[in-house]
Amino acid sequence: MAKVVIIGAGGVGRVVAHKCAQLSEFFTEIILASRTQRKCDVIVSDIKLKFPSTRIESDRVDADQVGEVIALFEKHRPFMVINVALPYQDLTIMDACLKVGVHYLDTANYEPLEEAKFEYSWQWAYQDRFKKAGLTAILGCGFDPGVTSIFTAYAAKHYFDEIHYLDIIDCNAGDHGKAFATNFNPEINIREVTQKGKYFEDGIWKITEPHQISQMINYPNIGLKKSYLIYHEELESLVKNFPTLRRARFWMTFGDEYLTHLRVIQNIGMAGIEPINFEGKQIVPLQFLKAVLPDPGELGENYDGETSIGCRIRGIKNGVFQTYYIYNNCKHQDAYRDTGAQGVSYTTGVPAAIGAKMLISGLWTGAGVFNVEEFNPDPFLKDLGLNGLVWHEVKDIDLEMI
Ligand code: NDP
Repeated sequence: MAKVVIIGAGGVGRVVAHKCAQLSEFFTEIILASRTQRKCDVIVSDIKLKFPSTRIESDRVDADQVGEVIALFEKHRPFMVINVALPYQDLTIMDACLKVGVHYLDTANYEPLEEAKFEYSWQWAYQDRFKKAGLTAILGCGFDPGVTSIFTAYAAKHYFDEIHYLDIIDCNAGDHGKAFATNFNPEINIREVTQKGKYFEDGIWKITEPHQISQMINYPNIGLKKSYLIYHEELESLVKNFPTLRRARFWMTFGDEYLTHLRVIQNIGMAGIEPINFEGKQIVPLQFLKAVLPDPGELGENYDGETSIGCRIRGIKNGVFQTYYIYNNCKHQDAYRDTGAQGVSYTTGVPAAIGAKMLISGLWTGAGVFNVEEFNPDPFLKDLGLNGLVWHEVKDIDLEMI
């Protein structure tokens, strides 16, 4: 049906490429391109072994250079690009899409390299240009952001007249056997979790110190886990697209061991993003740290346990107060068997491939820049369950959120 270019060959890129290959009726040709072509070659040969009839090839691109992305698109002429490189490349890839006429999808919003700050303003500013070009840009189609936003849209569509309270809860109860490792790109991950906390309440954003607020949350099949309030990018678009929200928060579990390592990393300056001079060479401490930490894409083999991510929602239907909880649990070993990647890469890559399938099959349409909650959630959630991420819903329960 359509040719797709995937940019990025990390853990998430591996999963997206596998899922596109499994959905070969929709993704008739796949180009996997990244800065280090060798990593693409490894994934491509794995896929050719498992699915010999897949039309897939690798290529090289430095997506920081808009000219290189344009050349890649002109060479292959894809219908769309699935951007699973890093957030720093979002705008150059969007610029190339406009130049060549390629639809766009990503899983993380733009973040400037020199400042640990992510917000949608930079990408929302492309609205008129994508509209004028008749192209679709789908922002944040991983799990969170992504499925959590679509869960919220599904709840609003089917169970509420107004949603008032939203708590997105994210638990990784897995064990990879390493003293310290991040579950996705270490640089992006550490920039995200060391920021101040932020949540929306009564019309304003409230700021907290990093990890200042925590509570015990009971996760299905896992049990009670200490969960910390952090800022997460989907809150920004959900508050805009669901204006009845009185409060929106995001919670993530961190083990004591992880937090201790993180504190040490910060205290000794290794989380720094300003370049320093080291023996006559400029290096960024956090980028150096990334080079010595385990590669998240290679944690899969020995990763046990599971993730549990979902939305706990309160609001009104027909004047009556309602509670609702929708979630997915994903076992790291199931993810590894399916794609050779661990659960966090899997829960990000599967939704990205399904989002692309929605666009290719005409189930999600429109010219402009969209967050995923603006589309019809029903066909997406149906496909998500069929492609490895089964979800569950519970109504009229005590949501346990303080
Ligand atoms: P990795 O670091 O494992 O992989 C990133 C890939 O992008 C690597 O192949 C890297 O190449 C490539 N890359 C980096 N810079 C460039 C560039 N300038 N040009 C071309 N390719 C480049 O990251 P993950 O796979 O863990 O994560 C991928 C994305 O998914 C990230 O943006 C992350 O924020 C997002 N994510 C989203 C989640 C969600 O639920 N929404 C959850 C988890 C992740 P090289 O090997 O040369 O470095």
